[in-house]
Amino acid sequence: MKKNPPRSNYWREIPGTISTVLISSVLEIIALRMWATGYLTNTYMDHWAHPFRSFFWFAGMSFHGDGYVGVAHRAMHPWNTGESPYYIIRCIPDFGYYLFKYVHSYHHLSENTTILSGHSMHPVDGVFYTS
Ligand SMILES: [Zn+2]
Repeated sequence: MKKNPPRSNYWREIPGTISTVLISSVLEIIALRMWATGYLTNTYMDHWAHPFRSFFWFAGMSFHGDGYVGVAHRAMHPWNTGESPYYIIRCIPDFGYYLFKYVHSYHHLSENTTILSGHSMHPVDGVFYTS
């Protein structure tokens, strides 16, 4: 393995990272707009008014984020490889094969990773991960 990533990695990862950041920002703007205009009605600002609910939200948020990213990432890989614990779902078409081939493989072009590699994704990948 090369000691430092080649410059071409950066030039490939910069647009992928920028698109992911832009997608994430647009989704955040939509969520905040929905909250500000009253479409998200299950929110509250006084956490002491709902202590148990707030506790579970705060305690579970980090696990939810990691769990979601883990599941979303795994779903982007082929499902029926024989080595996968999801091998039992052979009756379902292997959407993961096509998601990896046409979408997620862009993310895995970075074998020698840079600081941008984690968020360098195809835009469809960016929507999955940041939603
Ligand atoms: Zn992957």
